[in-house]
Amino acid sequence: MEETEGKKLKEKLFNKKENGWLSVDSEKEKIIFKFSDEYIYFLNKGKTERECCSFTRKMLEENGFKCICEYESLKPGDKVYYINREKSVYAAIIGNKELEDGVNVIGAHIDSPRLDLKPNPLYEEGEFAYFKTHYYGGIKKYQWTVIPLALHGVIVKTNGEKVEINIGENEEDPIFTITDLLPHLAQEQMERKLKDGVKGEELNLLIGSIPFNDKEVNEKVKLNILSILNRKYGIVEADFLSSELEIVPAFKARSLGLDGSMVAGYGQDDRVCAYTAIRALLDIKVPEKTAVCILSDKEEIGSVGNTGMESLVFDYFISEILNKTGKNRPDLIRKVFCNSRMLSSDVDAGFDPIYANVSDTKNAGYLGKGIALVKYTGARGKSGASDANAEFVAEIRNMMEENKIPYQLTELGKVDIGGGGTIAYILANKGVDVIDCGVPVLSMHAPYEVTSKFDIYCAYETYKAFWN
Ligand code: MN
Ligand code: MN
Repeated sequence: MEETEGKKLKEKLFNKKENGWLSVDSEKEKIIFKFSDEYIYFLNKGKTERECCSFTRKMLEENGFKCICEYESLKPGDKVYYINREKSVYAAIIGNKELEDGVNVIGAHIDSPRLDLKPNPLYEEGEFAYFKTHYYGGIKKYQWTVIPLALHGVIVKTNGEKVEINIGENEEDPIFTITDLLPHLAQEQMERKLKDGVKGEELNLLIGSIPFNDKEVNEKVKLNILSILNRKYGIVEADFLSSELEIVPAFKARSLGLDGSMVAGYGQDDRVCAYTAIRALLDIKVPEKTAVCILSDKEEIGSVGNTGMESLVFDYFISEILNKTGKNRPDLIRKVFCNSRMLSSDVDAGFDPIYANVSDTKNAGYLGKGIALVKYTGARGKSGASDANAEFVAEIRNMMEENKIPYQLTELGKVDIGGGGTIAYILANKGVDVIDCGVPVLSMHAPYEVTSKFDIYCAYETYKAFWN
């Protein structure tokens, strides 16, 4: 074929968005697949924020990180972390430059949509025992019925003793489920709007059916369940009052597709960015600017509370670094933030051809086309958005292009179709330059979410490049 002038000009001027797999040779494919296997292992080990937190702490400690409380003073190259109430993590590698020149932050979140047990969860009805639940985060409720579910979390007794619960992950464990109506009798239910197809108060977890064998008592099935729990964990019904028990899908994260190109698993929003960020942090050399990684909690319900990004615990962590590098003075932390940069690493909505009509195809994030940079989120006229400055976007583009990492600039859905947000605005409010930057996901917030292994590896490479 002849190279016409138009062809040459098009090659030079058009912004190409190629399928990333086309650039992957068999050697790179092996690296990508191996990395994804390790990520799948992480997903299966960390189904709650607490589990992700303790898994991350282990990864950090095995790689020379220590609690910041163990350091009297800090110098370049020191690796520190701070765990906030077992639910969020801040980690840093002290850089060669002063903190007041700014730090490079990557922030993801490790909480995911799920069903929490209510404070008084246990009841008996129709000779079945159930747990009542209250959903956490934005879910489509009908997706949580008729699938195998596991119970994870902690029960804290009044004497402070903490019982860790994890039922439904091992092959020999029982699982739980939420029943749904048979189609034969669902005529009325099928007339409901999809959002009410299954209602919040119908999300009751089936947990038992054998009655306690004593004619003299009522609520025999409930009694039998409590007696099992008492034998196994030494708890009584009132101990549920001080528990945090989460119901999550019991199925395992797996490789998806005949070509094995994707990962299917629960909680990829946002553990895909959390895992790739931590892995990147373990693999960088002593950076010029201090590298900071945040794995935050409560993002799915608005980043509130003392383990959410809105809390000042992160500021405390940075203050402690300033104190221990011997450089602190009043209000210096504000200067640190104003000179800092951040990748708010959270997932993006992947373009789904089955539901193509919600996306602007020219601005959607595509699986397999690299990490998605989202300049702004928000809804209806960018309301609530942290809109990244063009100068900062150019800086990040330059970094991506120098490191030959594929990326796409995307927007979440068509205008006025919906919207969303991340932790980006919280750091931006402190003066940090922030852009959202994450992996596109299909079926986001569903019990089983889908990502591309190509994008997962791109995220890891991006985060490494950003800190280096
Ligand atoms: Mn998210
Ligand atoms: Mn989310």
